[in-house]
Amino acid sequence: MERPFIKNFRLSELEAWVESIGERRFRARQIFKNVYARQIASWDECSDLSKLFRVQLDFGTHLNALNLRERQESADGTLKYLFELHDGHSLETVLIPDPPRNTLCVSSQVGCAFGCTFCLTGTMGFKRNLNTAEIVDQVCQVRRDLGSRGHISNIVFMGMGEPLANYDAVINSIEVMTDPNGLAFSHRRITVSTAGLVPQLMKLGEQSPVNLAISLHASSDAVRNQIMPINRIYPLSSVMEACRCYPLAPRKRITFEYILIADLNDSIGDARNLVKLLSGMRAKVNLIPLNPHPRCTLRRPSEDRILAFQDVLRQADLTVIIRQSRGADISAACGQLAGRHHDS
Ligand code: SAH
Ligand code: SF4
Repeated sequence: MERPFIKNFRLSELEAWVESIGERRFRARQIFKNVYARQIASWDECSDLSKLFRVQLDFGTHLNALNLRERQESADGTLKYLFELHDGHSLETVLIPDPPRNTLCVSSQVGCAFGCTFCLTGTMGFKRNLNTAEIVDQVCQVRRDLGSRGHISNIVFMGMGEPLANYDAVINSIEVMTDPNGLAFSHRRITVSTAGLVPQLMKLGEQSPVNLAISLHASSDAVRNQIMPINRIYPLSSVMEACRCYPLAPRKRITFEYILIADLNDSIGDARNLVKLLSGMRAKVNLIPLNPHPRCTLRRPSEDRILAFQDVLRQADLTVIIRQSRGADISAACGQLAGRHHDS
């Protein structure tokens, strides 16, 4: 039998598993507390479990799913972690300090199948889905590394990969992240970002009250088709319809991300179209000036043009911020993550 990863289990699954090996059900809760609240580095530290059970856990399971290989710090304080997986693949996780918040940007896949032209992860192609343990362990390992220097306040699924294309593992990882015996985050502190997989988007709304971010990046199908191939499967109208039907809690809004790309989607006309597209919706807009990467020929607009675009949205009473990406000097900004494939 394969050694299971402890962090793959939701609490109910761990209860079933401990029973299957002849232990009492409540041991699962003890394991959760040791792994997530006490952040043990080895089963030896669990004095509340019998010696025999600790040996069983040591030889019969994997406590960690990731191996920290490298940690880089940007001039602006952003931290980028490179982790190695058990099969030799690698992934990156980014911590963005923005006092009083510390936002952790987690990956959900190695590579991505959707091939958006502006995104370095997209140029790698799809390697494989991460399992629940590999997603959860990104939070555990960064938390351990930070120690008393800070705590993670928010988690965003905006690292490598398309979270809704790895639906079950992402939902399970959110369950572990929000379990009071697990990582104990509030759903309000977790955001899933998607390029717009409509069926999974609707399912997410029914199943989890996390925050939703949509990578829009264009206000017409003609432009969106050029930069996001997924738009040919789920065109703008279907994404917007799913957003209109999305069950939002009172006072909550959907975040729409819009990368500004010079001479492609940054005109005043584009901004007016965006206003029309979002009219009547509980929306906020994040404008992200394009981050260049070595495989991208697109350019970011001038500062004037960015401000003019923002102005059109403001005048229409939309909540809009310009998100200056962080950590560009260590290739940690949005769209610059590629695991160990940077220079290949
Ligand atoms: N696949 C998901 C989540 C990962 S991408 C999605 O696409 O939403 C996270 C965010 O980074 C998305 O909004 C994505 O569009 C943005 N991004 C990708 N490449 C970028 C680049 N070169 N410059 C700025 N933002 C980028
Ligand atoms: Fe995939 Fe998102 Fe990058 Fe598009 S932007 S290639 S969906 S990770």
